Amino acid sequence: MKRAERAKRIGAILDRLYPLPPIPLRHESPFQLLVAVVLSAQTTDAQVNRVTPALFRRAPAPEALAAMREPEILKLIRSCGLAPSKARNLKRLAQALVDDHGGRVPADIDDLERLPGVGHKTASVVMNQAFGEPAFPVDTHIHRLAARWRLSRGTNVEQTERDLKTIFPREEWGKRHLQMIYFGRQHCPARNHDAAQCPICSWVGRPSPGRSLS
Ligand code: SF4
Repeated sequence: MKRAERAKRIGAILDRLYPLPPIPLRHESPFQLLVAVVLSAQTTDAQVNRVTPALFRRAPAPEALAAMREPEILKLIRSCGLAPSKARNLKRLAQALVDDHGGRVPADIDDLERLPGVGHKTASVVMNQAFGEPAFPVDTHIHRLAARWRLSRGTNVEQTERDLKTIFPREEWGKRHLQMIYFGRQHCPARNHDAAQCPICSWVGRPSPGRSLS
């Protein structure tokens, strides 16, 4: 089966399993989404959703977060992984939004990537989920799934993102990102799983190093 056909069949399965995948990080503004995505590195979305209500009550917008002291931010987010560096980055990020963007989150991927603590994946999530722009954020989970499903032979997330953007239509990118995240969480346990039971790996075939994806 050619890669384009595989992508179509995988897309149909994902649509059946997750017809309307919700955005997992709770937020009420682009700013709150940006903060939540920064917090989600090395932390589960559920954990982020546990800490953000108190943080957003205290700092619903960049001005208030920039005015908080770093230890105060740290206290509110301590249960997230990498909390000390996240507290530092969040304060700098909020300050940069106030100083350089009039207290608003810029709807521009290059501007977003220039903000402290914001990488390409975070910027892509915000562009898509806050501003509705087509983007296909690829993290290590999506990178692995794309390889297992023989959609990409990318050796890094950048290459995999380019492949997925080529194979899926632009209007599907954001939805496919979320569907792959949900699929990975639900179907890909760390061990003891049987590929024959998997709705996708059971038919997709194994990636083999020498073979072209076609
Ligand atoms: S077989 Fe299914 S559960 Fe296992 S890695 Fe592939 S997609 Fe995930």
